[in-house]
Amino acid sequence: MFELPKLPYPQDALEPFISSKTLEFHYGKHHQTYVTNLNNLTKGTEFENADLETIVKKATGPVFNNGAQVWNHTFYFEAFSATAQKTPSKTLGQLIDRDFESLEKFKEKFNTAATTLFGSGWAWLVLKADGKLDIVQTSNAGNPMLDGHKPLLTCDVWEHAYYIDVKNRRPDYIKNFWEILDWKVIDQRL
Ligand code: MN
Repeated sequence: MFELPKLPYPQDALEPFISSKTLEFHYGKHHQTYVTNLNNLTKGTEFENADLETIVKKATGPVFNNGAQVWNHTFYFEAFSATAQKTPSKTLGQLIDRDFESLEKFKEKFNTAATTLFGSGWAWLVLKADGKLDIVQTSNAGNPMLDGHKPLLTCDVWEHAYYIDVKNRRPDYIKNFWEILDWKVIDQRL
């Protein structure tokens, strides 16, 4: 049985950047539905007792779609905090400076990737196999682990992530995203 992981903060903790109403739907309904679907789809199959990472890497079709969405959403929600550390650690900060010139330049480039992603998907900061950081986009339930990258940070740009709070203004949502992104969590993923 797959279970919806508990949020590491109360539902209203990210106000005003992400509203309690958005979390009620995005976490309580969408994330929960992916978990429920995954349980129904994997019952009696080889994936019934698999871990999520195996499902992301090996499954296809609806099992992949729901399993990867569970993984992606957990990864996304875990990176927020009401008392977010606003900048990366020295180690990660140095890698960002090396590969993007500065934190500000990195954010600009990431914002462009998140804003220009057509349709539904995710923008990611990843560590590639060659040791370099990169920004990638994935569509729908896509996950950069399938390309051999290690995900460090993600922004969900499906409309359900922001429509309640900012309607169609995705750039406003991305601006708010940085206010609650906890770099302490991202540091630990490096
Ligand atoms: Mn979502």
